[in-house]
Amino acid sequence: MRIGALEAGGTKMVCAVGREDGTILEQMSIPTTTPEETIPKIISYFKEKDICALGVAAFGPVDVNPRSDTYGYILDTPKLAWRHKDLLGELKKELPVPMGLDTDVNGSCLGEMTYGCAKGLDSVIYLTIGTGIGVGVGINGKPLHGMLHPEGGHVLLTRHKDDPEGGICPYHKNCFEGLACGPSIEARWGKKAVELAGRAEVWELESFYIAQALVDFIMILSPRKIILGGGVMHQEQLFPLIRTKVKELLGGYLNTRELADMDSYIVPASLHDDQGIMGCIKLGLDALAQA
Ligand code: ADP
Ligand code: ZN
Repeated sequence: MRIGALEAGGTKMVCAVGREDGTILEQMSIPTTTPEETIPKIISYFKEKDICALGVAAFGPVDVNPRSDTYGYILDTPKLAWRHKDLLGELKKELPVPMGLDTDVNGSCLGEMTYGCAKGLDSVIYLTIGTGIGVGVGINGKPLHGMLHPEGGHVLLTRHKDDPEGGICPYHKNCFEGLACGPSIEARWGKKAVELAGRAEVWELESFYIAQALVDFIMILSPRKIILGGGVMHQEQLFPLIRTKVKELLGGYLNTRELADMDSYIVPASLHDDQGIMGCIKLGLDALAQA
């Protein structure tokens, strides 16, 4: 069976064809410009591929409620050309196959739940810490939606005493994304995050914010595992710092088997950066099963 997979990102669209077991048969990427230019390129890629379903994981906010009038629309994104665009509807006009849709981070979470390190877990979260911060939540093998979808990147945090400026989110002065995404590191320290690899104070502060957010998610969702992806998490020195700080912030309050083994609890993505596209394959498969 050939399943189409589309990871619709703010900078690029990754288009792929895969199989039920998660194998990726072919893949290519298209830069994300305007919908008028980009969507026809996506359609022409998939038209020739003989796919029987398509799974789409999109940047958000995006309407993922199938009963809503604006299902499949990109909502109030700062990417103005895409605001209120009917992404899924445009694809459906030209590609007559069942389609599944979720957010980019829920897609990655689903990829890890289906093919990766989170198989069989009843509660798991996947964070991407990159240009923005997104949090995907998987409960009993399914991504959590609710009224829209979780927006864990915008939880409010306590600012570090040595961080006078506050965050860069236009909506919130002290949210996780505003304080800890890649561009906020760059704004605070005046250099790209990758160029700050040797500056211990940068990662000390970064891990302070990430750990705070994780403790909030642990308290609310009781995840069995926390998976951290995205460009900023390429700084591997963050992992031990985050694990230590999470333990400190929990203050001995929770004592579970999972928390006793922090190295297996807070982990990098396990699918070699294919977790997103593999999640799309699963979204396509689920859409086919429901068709
Ligand atoms: P996106 O979030 O746009 O999909 P990424 O996950 O690659 O893409 O995130 C891009 C952000 O991650 C940028 O702000 C960049 O500075 C930061 N970044 C990318 N690579 C690294 C790295 N090796 N170390 C630290 N930060 C990085
Ligand atoms: Zn915010």
